[in-house]
Amino acid sequence: MELQVVGCWAPYPQIGQACSGYLIKQDQTTCLLDCGHGVLSFLGCYTDVLKLNLVIISHFHPDHYVDLHALRHLIRGGLISGQAAGPVDLFIPDEPREQWEYWQNVPEFRVYRLHPQMQLAYPGLNIEFYPAIHPLPTYAVKFFTGQSSLFYTADSAASDAMWEYARKVDILLGEASFLTADSHLASKLGHMSTTDLARGALQTDPGILVATHLWPGFDANVVSGEIQAVYPGKNMLAYSGLNIEA
Ligand SMILES: [Zn+2]
Repeated sequence: MELQVVGCWAPYPQIGQACSGYLIKQDQTTCLLDCGHGVLSFLGCYTDVLKLNLVIISHFHPDHYVDLHALRHLIRGGLISGQAAGPVDLFIPDEPREQWEYWQNVPEFRVYRLHPQMQLAYPGLNIEFYPAIHPLPTYAVKFFTGQSSLFYTADSAASDAMWEYARKVDILLGEASFLTADSHLASKLGHMSTTDLARGALQTDPGILVATHLWPGFDANVVSGEIQAVYPGKNMLAYSGLNIEA
């Protein structure tokens, strides 16, 4: 399985970069996981966008979905020119209701409602969902093949049950929206601090921890230092262009 980071910033992108957007690739399957501000500016650097098999939106905060509007128009162009095979599978929460209703009426996508028991099987790639702790319905996502696995926390407060669910994944792609000093605020807002994520990695014991959903104003050395003060395992910060094979 291949993880390609398209964008990793929240809640606004660093200059010349993008918010949440990740490609998960295995065999013939390419999944776009979240599609925040700026993702469409970079997506074509990493994949043939008209060949995407599916798109998953973890939740309807703008830094995770707003470039769906741009993607929709790119697909429309592909359908008109004959370069796109058909509408693309789109998995989204069914709330907020106005979002659910809006995307149902977009013909460039085949829309499916995310729910916790959902299990998807695409060629080479299996996908499961886990309800995150966030102010609106949000899904964490587990990807697995016969050989490797990846867990994406989406936006979520930490929970022992989530870390248990993600145990021993090869790649833990986890949000670290706040610094340690603001851990209390983070959990109140349905997010994690660097220390929350590092403690989660201790429980999960992943092959590698990739911290993402990073505030553009933070000093990367401080963010890394706070994670490494708690978690001694292999770890790194996400960046646009990062590619990891698991
Ligand atoms: Zn969010």
